[in-house]
Amino acid sequence: MDTKIKLLLVSIAIVCVNAISYQNYKVYNVVPKTKEDVTILKKLLDENKYFFWDYAIKVNYDVKIMVAPEKQDDFEKYAESVGINAKLVIEDVQSLIDAQLKRPSSRTQQEYNWDYYQTLDEIYDWLDKVAEEHSDVVTIIEIGRTVENRVIKGIKIDYKKQERPTIGFLKGGLHAREWITPATITWLINEFLNSEDTNVRNLAENVVWHIIPVANPDGYVYSFTSDRMWRKNRNRANFTSCAHLGLNDDMSNGIDLNRNFGYLWMTTGASQDPCTQTFAGPVAFSELESISIANYVLGLQRQGNLIYYLGFHSYSQLILVPYSHVGGADVLAAPNYGDLFEIAIKSAAKLTERYNTTYRVGTSADILYEVSGSGFDWAKGQANVPIVLLYEVRDLGQYGFLLPAEQIIPNSEEVLDSLVELDRVTRQIGYYQYQNSGQILNLSIFLLISTILFVM
Ligand SMILES: [Zn+2]
Repeated sequence: MDTKIKLLLVSIAIVCVNAISYQNYKVYNVVPKTKEDVTILKKLLDENKYFFWDYAIKVNYDVKIMVAPEKQDDFEKYAESVGINAKLVIEDVQSLIDAQLKRPSSRTQQEYNWDYYQTLDEIYDWLDKVAEEHSDVVTIIEIGRTVENRVIKGIKIDYKKQERPTIGFLKGGLHAREWITPATITWLINEFLNSEDTNVRNLAENVVWHIIPVANPDGYVYSFTSDRMWRKNRNRANFTSCAHLGLNDDMSNGIDLNRNFGYLWMTTGASQDPCTQTFAGPVAFSELESISIANYVLGLQRQGNLIYYLGFHSYSQLILVPYSHVGGADVLAAPNYGDLFEIAIKSAAKLTERYNTTYRVGTSADILYEVSGSGFDWAKGQANVPIVLLYEVRDLGQYGFLLPAEQIIPNSEEVLDSLVELDRVTRQIGYYQYQNSGQILNLSIFLLISTILFVM
């Protein structure tokens, strides 16, 4: 090959792997004190000049705003002029990203641990290794493929091999940049397989667990290679100019998977603009990832008593109860809201015991923001899974998505404590006896036929 062409190819490759730099980007914390403050901040969010880490803008709620170096003067002056106190909380975003990407130098090639954030390849290799080492209980599951042709991979843990078991579905990494969730989930898998604690053993063995650590593999990879703050998948089908929002057009190359599910799709808290973070896709279930998850969940209902659908996101320290579009007295729209709330509140209290980390409990509309088209709302509203909860894990925004790796294990430990409690309360209420909707339907048909025969 011609040397010039070689050089050109090498430089193209370098440009391609070059990640966006967040050097000297600062993050400010703002707490709106009045309704007027809320209006000002919402306007600022819509203008899109600054990068909001939080979309929930309510009186007395923290809002983290990331600001590029060249806009910091403007931002500080503006905040002062409207009387909003903007407290600098992160000096240099890139330094936190670099810290998250750090690999322990002493580690041997084969060693997998939780003192740093794993890449997709490392997670997938580890799953294979785990399946090999625990071949009596673990099976690799592949629930589908992505638009970039990556496998959406996880594992099934089945100790008892029962005919119609109690089943739990657990997933993380639906949003690419929420790195703490795949890390937490692989740690949980390790505990399910190796812990000697009686409570953890019960949790691991009484339920057949289907676990997906990275539900959005394309986005996850992209957040390592190109843009640490990437949230959506990497479907380029809706590519368009993002100049109207003052953004790079690449922003349109993705759909927010947690707005793409087919339950009340695009009714609230979602966008039809491909350049936004919450772009819901052109139609419900337009994305391979959301279709794969939904089909897999429906398949589990045919295999046994699917009682759990637990999603993991970050950050904010919340346990969310469906539905995400309702607040106040309307929360009772979810058929077993009372049970879900009781389970969530007790799980959150248990979580606090170890490190005094506090979680709030409620619907997204009440404690975060209104959302529609999310996976967990679909799991409740369409699939009718009994226990559907969503964890927003650490932290409260001190580091946000850039949570230091030293917090992976403490975060995971307290989540496991809460899951043990969650399962204990669920069992106590009687959900292990719950018959899934398929069986109920069969039962209703049986009853209907019997009635017809009886009256004939
Ligand atoms: Zn998320």
